[in-house]
Amino acid sequence: MSDTLTAGTSDEHIREAIRRHALDEAEGPYRAEIAALYAMFDAHNAEFFGGELRPVTITVSPPQSAKAIADARENSGWGGYQEMRIRPSVVTGEHPTGAYARTPKPGWRMRPGRRGTEGHRRWLSDLVLHEMVHLLLNQRRDPRRNDHKGHGAPYTEECNRVSALLGLPGVRARRRKGEPRELPISPDWPFCVRPGGEHGAYYGDLWERIEVEREAPEEPATVGERMLAIWRHEDTPEGERVRFLREAGLARVGGVEVIDGPPAEVAPPPTERVTTNGGKKGVPLAPAPGAPGEWLRIKEAARRLGVAPKTVRDRIEGRKLLCRYREDGYREVFVAERAQVSPGGATSDGLDPAGPVLAGENHVSGAAT
Ligand SMILES: [Zn+2]
Repeated sequence: MSDTLTAGTSDEHIREAIRRHALDEAEGPYRAEIAALYAMFDAHNAEFFGGELRPVTITVSPPQSAKAIADARENSGWGGYQEMRIRPSVVTGEHPTGAYARTPKPGWRMRPGRRGTEGHRRWLSDLVLHEMVHLLLNQRRDPRRNDHKGHGAPYTEECNRVSALLGLPGVRARRRKGEPRELPISPDWPFCVRPGGEHGAYYGDLWERIEVEREAPEEPATVGERMLAIWRHEDTPEGERVRFLREAGLARVGGVEVIDGPPAEVAPPPTERVTTNGGKKGVPLAPAPGAPGEWLRIKEAARRLGVAPKTVRDRIEGRKLLCRYREDGYREVFVAERAQVSPGGATSDGLDPAGPVLAGENHVSGAAT
């Protein structure tokens, strides 16, 4: 837009110019959707509002509230009147978590790869429609436009007028105590009155529900549990067992010395290990020298391996993962670099038999316990 156009013009003129730009010349990663959002606004304006709405700038940018997917405000970020903001993650079809984490969060999310589909387009179109009712009441200076966070009586009335035009059910402003969660209300309009509901068939296969096992946070092990775990570990050197017996006050039972090994301070030769389960192979006591990898807390290890934390705990139990206790009592496991999920997501399981996790230890074969 040229200086002569903007100089001394009303902001409505600027908004109109931005709308033109968005429709004809938008650039950047959201250009297709930006043009589509303005086109949706114009189509709704003609179909449902008799062209009453004056042009509004629409930006693909995060709304005020961290939880909101969009908002309509009375003043724009560039000092003009009104603005509709649409969260980038819904525009790119990656809502709610942006480029999805490897371990998805439970709840509804947009199914990957649905950007630009008919279902996605319908959903964005409904989002624009929802915000337009806010903008309309704003432009009308309706005195009750901010009731119930913008979803009061005048907003709900307008929803129901448009719903009737679309042949859709009506909504209420809010649910009263004891009313079912399914009762459609205007803060969720028009999504909630579409066939199949908010995440339903009207939007194709845009939405998917992620169920993730909820794990209780791991409790730090007590001193006793740590001792027991180390005592039980087949690779605990005898010197360590003696040291723990001494620390636990068990070196002498009934006045009889039960330890006849070397003093705890003297490290035993590395070959002198007590193996309680004979030939059964477990993980080694320490990663092979120079083996690339990291010691990680269970949750982080699970994330890197692309598995659930419970799977990591099971692998510790099954001695498929090297585990040790930290000073604070939490466990940590050794995650070999090659076991970590590749950026392309090619490997989802750290126990891929094609590549042993721990250098020099084919722990996969027959190690399941
Ligand atoms: Zn709203």
